[in-house]
Amino acid sequence: MDQRLSERINNLPTSATLAMAAKARELKEQGKDIIGLSLGEPDFNTPDFVKDAAIQAINDNYNSYTPVDGYAELKDAIIHKFKRDNQLTYDRSQIVVSTGAKQSIANVAMVLLNKGDECILPAPYWVSYSAIVELAEGVPVEVRAGVEQNFKITPAQLRDAITPKTKMMLFSSPNNPSGSLYSEEELRGLAEVLKEYPDIIIVSDEIYEHINYVGKHASMAAIPEMYDRTVTINGVSKAFAMTGWRVGYIGAPTWIARACNKMQGQITSGTNCIAQRAVITALEAPVSKIQFMIDAFAERRDLILSLLAEINGFITDTPEGAFYVFPDISAWFGKEVRGHKIYNATDFSLMILEEANVATVSGDAFGAPNCIRISYAASTDQIKEAMKRIKEVLQ
Ligand code: PMP
Ligand code: GLU
Repeated sequence: MDQRLSERINNLPTSATLAMAAKARELKEQGKDIIGLSLGEPDFNTPDFVKDAAIQAINDNYNSYTPVDGYAELKDAIIHKFKRDNQLTYDRSQIVVSTGAKQSIANVAMVLLNKGDECILPAPYWVSYSAIVELAEGVPVEVRAGVEQNFKITPAQLRDAITPKTKMMLFSSPNNPSGSLYSEEELRGLAEVLKEYPDIIIVSDEIYEHINYVGKHASMAAIPEMYDRTVTINGVSKAFAMTGWRVGYIGAPTWIARACNKMQGQITSGTNCIAQRAVITALEAPVSKIQFMIDAFAERRDLILSLLAEINGFITDTPEGAFYVFPDISAWFGKEVRGHKIYNATDFSLMILEEANVATVSGDAFGAPNCIRISYAASTDQIKEAMKRIKEVLQ
C-alpha cells in the first residue's frame, strides 16, 4: 500500500495469472528448471498466413491512427465470422475492436456499471472479471459451482443471486479456468430466468469458442430473446495463437457499442493498425486452418487427464473446451507435504512450485478456493514431466 497512489490502484488485486507467470519466469532466470503450466497461452506460433498479412500491411504503409472502433474491413470480417460461426447478425455499428478481449470486457463494465451495481459472476470465473467490475465501482456477486456440477451454475442458483441491483452477468463458455461448456439447452435454462429481468445485460465471453472438443459452440446472443441484451466478447488470442498481438472485439446492441467506442476514444484509441490488418486475414480463413492446434490440445487434454487420475487427492471432471483442467485438491487441506503445511489452494500451488518446480494458479483468484488451475497449453513432454514430478511429491 503506497499512500501516494490512488485508492483505486491500491485496492486493485494483481492479476494472479500474470503474477504466477512472472514468478515462474523469475525462477527460470535464476536457473531453476520450472515447467510453466500457469499461463493460458497457446504454445504455437501465429500461423504463417496471418504473419504474412502483417508483413504485407507494414509494406503497404498501414501506419496511421485507425478508426477508434476498428477498420471497416475488419468489422466486416468480424460480422462475417459471427454469421458463419454463431448465426448472429450484426452491422458495423454493433462491432467494436479493442486492444485484446480484456479491454473489450473493461469497456463494457465501465460503460454499464454505476457505483454499487451488481454483476453476477458464475464462479469459477476468469481472474480479471472481479477486478474489472470493482474498477468500474460495481459489486461482483459470485455464484459458485464446484466440480460436482461441472463448474456450471443452475437456473435456480442464478435466480437466487438476482437482486434489484443486478445490472450485468459476465461469464465465459468455454470457461476459463474450468474448461466447462454451457450447452445450448443449459444456456436456454439460464435465459428462461433472465427473461423475467429484462434490464440485466449479459456479457458472454466466447474467446475459447474454437477450442471445443465436443461439438457445437452455443452463443447466448443466438437465443432470440437474449440478442438485444447480450454483448458477445471474442478475440484472436487463443484460437489463432495471437496473444501478443492484442486484438479483441465485441458484437453488441448499438447503444453499448457506441458507448465503448467513446470510452476507448479517451483511453487507447483504435488498436494497433498492423495487428488489425492481420486479423482480417485470420478471421476470413476457414476454421480448418487452425484445426491442427485444436487437435493437439485435445490430445494433451486426454494425456493430462489420464496422468492426473494417478495422483492422490485430485478430483477432476472432463473439461470440454479451452486448455485448462481445474482439479479440486481440497483433500490436501490440513495436511503437511515435505514440511509445507497446506491450509488452502494457494499454499498447495506454492508447494508444487517449490517442490516440483511446476507453476499452476491457485483457484482463490478464480472464486474457487478448493481448486488449482493447470494449463495444458504445453508440450506433451512438459505435461508428462510435470505430472510425474507432482505425483512424486505427493506420494
Ligand atoms: N477472457 C478470457 C476468459 C480469457 O481467458 C482471456 C485470456 N487472456 C481473455 C478474456 C483476454 O484475452 P485477450 O488476450 O484477448 O485480452
Ligand atoms: N487469459 C490468460 C490466463 O488466464 C492469460 C493471462 C491473463 O491475461 O490473465 O492465463
